Amino acid sequence: GLLHRVLAFFPMAGETNAEWLLQAVLKLKLEGTRPGWMLDAGSSRTTVYVYQWPAEKENNTGVVNQTYRCSVKGSGISSYGNNPQAVPKTFEDCMQRVKEKIPADLHKSTLAHLGATAGMRLLQNESAAREVLASIQTYFESQPFDFRGAEIISGQEEGVYGWITANYLMGNFLEVSPPHGGETTGALDLGGASAQISFVPEEEAGHSANSTVQVSLYGYTYTLYTHSFQCYGRDEAEKRFLARLFQYVLYDRLSSHCKLVNPCYPRDYVTTLTMEHIFGSLCTEELRPASYDPGYKIALEGTGDPTLCREKVYSLFDFQVCHDREDCSFDGVYQPKVKGTFVAFSGFYYTANALNLTGSSPLDAFNSSTWDFCLQSWSQVSGFDEVYARSYCFSAHYIYHLLINGYKFTRQTWPNIHFKKEVENSSIAWSLGYMLNLTNMIPAESPLTQLPMKP
Ligand code: AMP
Repeated sequence: GLLHRVLAFFPMAGETNAEWLLQAVLKLKLEGTRPGWMLDAGSSRTTVYVYQWPAEKENNTGVVNQTYRCSVKGSGISSYGNNPQAVPKTFEDCMQRVKEKIPADLHKSTLAHLGATAGMRLLQNESAAREVLASIQTYFESQPFDFRGAEIISGQEEGVYGWITANYLMGNFLEVSPPHGGETTGALDLGGASAQISFVPEEEAGHSANSTVQVSLYGYTYTLYTHSFQCYGRDEAEKRFLARLFQYVLYDRLSSHCKLVNPCYPRDYVTTLTMEHIFGSLCTEELRPASYDPGYKIALEGTGDPTLCREKVYSLFDFQVCHDREDCSFDGVYQPKVKGTFVAFSGFYYTANALNLTGSSPLDAFNSSTWDFCLQSWSQVSGFDEVYARSYCFSAHYIYHLLINGYKFTRQTWPNIHFKKEVENSSIAWSLGYMLNLTNMIPAESPLTQLPMKP
């Protein structure tokens, strides 16, 4: 296509010269940019993002974009605690492709970093986590990139960098003068193991230092409220849900398995999970039965009952401890009133997408789609991976309680939430914000993001 356009401009050039001209222009363009990649080691999977940005720092925003994305096959790195040496092998396919995407002469100057999130935070104090990170570090030291390390990022960093990414991609940092004076969008992230909320509240949230972060970008300082809820990610929340279902049945310890009825699984769906699948996590450790046997099989059968599902999912949160306090979300966590628009990405997006409700829509539409989805029998649910498909009904109810009863969105403010996964092909995820900070790509007249020291 490009060659034809060159020929249209220079019809006399001939195909060989036009080809040469095109290559020269493409090379010049590449020399003006420097790539980087980030490995987002999430709890359920690892994703590699390749970014490209100008070699010269520009006093501009929206110039760094994602040029490639690769999903590492298999589960997240936190599941390799027993076999840390096997982790680098899982990266090889993606790394091979990344090497093909980035010109070889730029490999050495390509910035690279791995950040692990809540899945690894759960393992943080265990030697397994150190061994997994060490094995990754060794692998990348033998690779041709400018590797800056593998580390576990804090929930606060995850929240802030997700917020930076969303606003950067939307160009919100460009216009900070009135009437748009520093108006930003809030960020809602639903990962596999943790959930983050970050936004600029109406008033300075002075009285809770550990949830307030000052972020200086383009000479403007934003005072951000951010909180990360460990064990409130989609996957861990569902494990806690299944663990509670299990607590209510008396299972026969002498038989080799038991049977549970799950109102959130579609009608006619049956599956078997091991006790380890449900109780093997630190998020369900306290719910473990006394006779915990990792290999014990639990049969589950779906009944597709949306009313019962909604009622039972409610009990995953402690709303009582907040009483009628306006500045409290759940589990006693301080949160100022939500303000302005929000983007809801990652797990929020996947679920909204399954309900055919991306972008923004009224709360009634979300509820009626949830009911429609949950009332389908298993044979009617099609077009999705089994493990995701069986859980969309649960996820939709979970998202409802998290956003409405937890974060305190209302029927009026619900349409301010935009379910979205990317902006012009760049994913909304903490990794871009992290790289922007790592490379000082966002000029700050005052110091850059001032994150408090990690505990
Ligand atoms: P991630 O963005 O990879 O951290 O995933 C966040 C959550 O979304 C996890 O609970 C995943 O299990 C879930 N998830 C990831 N991809 C999909 C998908 N295609 N459909 C449904 N859920 C997904």
